[in-house]
Amino acid sequence: MTHFTPTPMSLYPLFADLAGRTVLVVGGGVVAERKIAALLKTGAFIRVGAPQVTGTIAAWVGEARIDWQRGDYDPVLLDDAWLVIAATGDAGINARVADEAGRRRVLVNVVDDAVLSTFQVPAVIDRSPLLVAISSAGAAPMLARALRERLEILLDHALGPLAALLGRYRNAIRAARPRLETRRRFYSELLDGSVASLLRARRPRAAERVLKAAIAASTPGAHGEVVLVGAGPGDPGLLTLHALRALNEADVILHDRLVSADVLDLARRDAQRIEVGKRTGDHAGIQDLIHALMLEHARAGRRVVRLKGGDPFVFGRGGEEIEFLRAHGIAYRVVPGITAALACAAYAGVPLTHRDHAQSVHLVTAHCKRSLDTLDWRALAAERQTLAVYMGVGELAAVQDRLIGYGRGADTPFVLVENGSRPDQRVVTGTLGELAGRARDEAVHAPALLIIGEVAALAPQLAWFGEPAAVQAPLAAAA
Ligand code: SAH
Repeated sequence: MTHFTPTPMSLYPLFADLAGRTVLVVGGGVVAERKIAALLKTGAFIRVGAPQVTGTIAAWVGEARIDWQRGDYDPVLLDDAWLVIAATGDAGINARVADEAGRRRVLVNVVDDAVLSTFQVPAVIDRSPLLVAISSAGAAPMLARALRERLEILLDHALGPLAALLGRYRNAIRAARPRLETRRRFYSELLDGSVASLLRARRPRAAERVLKAAIAASTPGAHGEVVLVGAGPGDPGLLTLHALRALNEADVILHDRLVSADVLDLARRDAQRIEVGKRTGDHAGIQDLIHALMLEHARAGRRVVRLKGGDPFVFGRGGEEIEFLRAHGIAYRVVPGITAALACAAYAGVPLTHRDHAQSVHLVTAHCKRSLDTLDWRALAAERQTLAVYMGVGELAAVQDRLIGYGRGADTPFVLVENGSRPDQRVVTGTLGELAGRARDEAVHAPALLIIGEVAALAPQLAWFGEPAAVQAPLAAAA
């Protein structure tokens, strides 16, 4: 067993420019193939020494992207190499390669052998030209890899374009901000500010304009923005990476009551959290308050996350909010979320469409009597389609009567999903004719989503989330 003694810094990190320089890879198996794939991005001249190679390596040879010296390892291959990677899987050959490379003062990496290696290949997060490399000096490569996965999630892909843009303006920034201290502050504001944000919105030209203006400005103005984020139905695993990043960077979070505590727990610890939730029955005044809060915090230069249950554009008034922001000149982005219909269907085992049962899905809201009157019930009552009804718990009897009144069969199956995707999810099933009664007997409460249609019959067989009892009880009762 090798014994690892930690020292203050046992390795010297460096980033090598290998373009046009010879790198020798000894070995032609899948491990060698992985190493070659990484090297190909550097523009190195890659020489492979091996008696056989994988199909992929052979294809690279065929495309003249690498050079293959077919045959057993021969030290002559080392002659003009700057770096060597030994990836043969044969300890004897790997040791010879390491030894002969050492004599020639060529740095060598023996795959998975920190002792024989004179350099190590780090785990990398690639946001070129920005690169983050992680090493455990061979002590715990798995740990380095696990860390890489975490950083991969946190580091936005817009960082690459940001680094490239800053590279082009580096001299201009240095000239305009000769003092190191002010330059540092300038860069750190860029990272959090609207230039990065515009790049995330894939608007490189606007980002460059703002950067130029910021360089010219004597005092870099604070630019707040609002990110409208869909928090999904409750299970924090259903957040998108963009949502997670926005929560990590937020100064202020304006969230609905519907947003789960588990999701809020993922936000930056010192972000100010403000609940602006609406209960059904609460009124327009709250929406005005939300608008005012967004405006106040964004104008103060803060990064505001407007966090909504599900998706911001599905019965979430997201449209009104960004109309308001646009009218007031506040920058915004929208991060979609998993809407309740999609989440509840998935977590109840109901495919919303199915070749055999349903060719379309309607998302409707049964908020109040008035919203019911505006719906086209004749169309909604047609067969072989699925209805997903939001905010309907108070109006189930009306939904039931109208659908049956317009011809939907009373035996059409339904699924009512309460607290979908949350630990306390409950699924109540039945047929349209007994909808209101079943909901009353089971005391179903908001938030609950109603799915009506042929596909709902599949729930008892396909359910996978939560204890099965809740789904199977009505079946047993029917038997
Ligand atoms: N923007 C949200 C919907 C807001 S309307 C979205 O896209 O999901 C609020 C309604 O959504 C609730 O009354 C309920 O019908 C539904 N809903 C939201 N989250 C839910 C959940 N976890 N389980 C069941 N229904 C949910």
